[in-house]
Amino acid sequence: MEKNYYVCTGCGMLCDDIEVEAEKNIVNKVYTACRVGVAHMKEGRDSAVFRVDDKPVDEATAIGEAAAILKNAKNPLIFGLGTSSNEAQKLAIEIAKKTSATLDDPSSFLLGSVVEALLQNRFKTCTLDDVRNKADVTIFWGTNPSDSHPRHLSKHSYFPRGKEKQRGWEEERTAIAIDVRKSHTAKICGNYFFEIPPGGDAEFIDALIAALSGKLPKTSYNFPPKRILELANILKGAKFGVVFAGLGLVYSLENLEPLFRLMDALNEKANFHLIPMVGHSNTRGFNENLFEETGHVNSVKFEDGAVKHGPEFSIVESLKAKTPDAALIIGSDPLSSLPRSIVKNLLEIPVISLNPCETLTSRNAKVYINTAISGVESGGTATRMDGVKVDFKPVVETKRLSDEAVLKKIMEAL
Ligand code: SF4
Repeated sequence: MEKNYYVCTGCGMLCDDIEVEAEKNIVNKVYTACRVGVAHMKEGRDSAVFRVDDKPVDEATAIGEAAAILKNAKNPLIFGLGTSSNEAQKLAIEIAKKTSATLDDPSSFLLGSVVEALLQNRFKTCTLDDVRNKADVTIFWGTNPSDSHPRHLSKHSYFPRGKEKQRGWEEERTAIAIDVRKSHTAKICGNYFFEIPPGGDAEFIDALIAALSGKLPKTSYNFPPKRILELANILKGAKFGVVFAGLGLVYSLENLEPLFRLMDALNEKANFHLIPMVGHSNTRGFNENLFEETGHVNSVKFEDGAVKHGPEFSIVESLKAKTPDAALIIGSDPLSSLPRSIVKNLLEIPVISLNPCETLTSRNAKVYINTAISGVESGGTATRMDGVKVDFKPVVETKRLSDEAVLKKIMEAL
């Protein structure tokens, strides 16, 4: 009998080999997923909620009120979408164009700069399937997938057998962690863990580049040169190397120049690729959809048929400047996740919150619609952290509307 596999939308890996046992629209068992994925796949089945000013209303009233807020605003902010399908994200872009909105997603303070550089072909990249089939050296830099993407090492990057890696981990692969603390991933890497001080990444990159060309590597924090030379020798011997770039690395750099130089230096001696460790299920999709439309991955403002781009159009800077006069927040909870001093400005404007869960943002919203969970209660397409498009289907039925359905209705009402 052919097996029925589902896609887990619990993180950017979008694992597509998940089996579930469901009865009476309730998921009882989940196979193959990690602990995060199991909990995620069992999340469905709340009833639909439409609320305006804290009072329950019907669907048409909530949609009508949301459309009226956006129509009356001069500069609405549309934000979130990291767990929405590509179809919903494209609709949000259309709404942003129609309402002259500022449009941003969490990648403006996460890994958006790396994804943008990648889409501009500044890095050589590859898919997670290439990693499983070919990679002999992987570097986890400022990232801890054992906790953030729990199946990363077992499904793709270290333990599994691949077409050209029949013996899997230690025997055929070297996993290296460069980080400021001994994370769970760093522990798996054993002797190949390089502990650097916070903010020490750019210097370590320069020392590594020096070591790659046979020079004595030096750092102001006296990292043992012998160890950097040993690391450089491993990297020079890589037939298919991959750098998994995490937030720890990106937050430590003032800009991406050191990373460009490192990847160039690695590719002079060996064959290295870069994959950003995107966290949410479809942040990469949002970045690619917006890039296709505007040439930018986040922080844009649509106005009179033109597109403006810059940090001033990120959620953080626009709320600091108090420029948005309304907000549509989709699948995100900025009131909990961003500094209070900045997001408190959201309390002064009408907010529309689309979210499967009650959050601090939804409780303070003028309009709240509890949408279906993408990948559990609604289907569509998403873009995996490595850029591969994935179709996903719902596991259970729901009366809740998907992000896509709500955004379509808002668009029609505008
Ligand atoms: Fe789901 Fe991510 Fe776990 Fe895969 S690694 S099962 S996508 S949460």
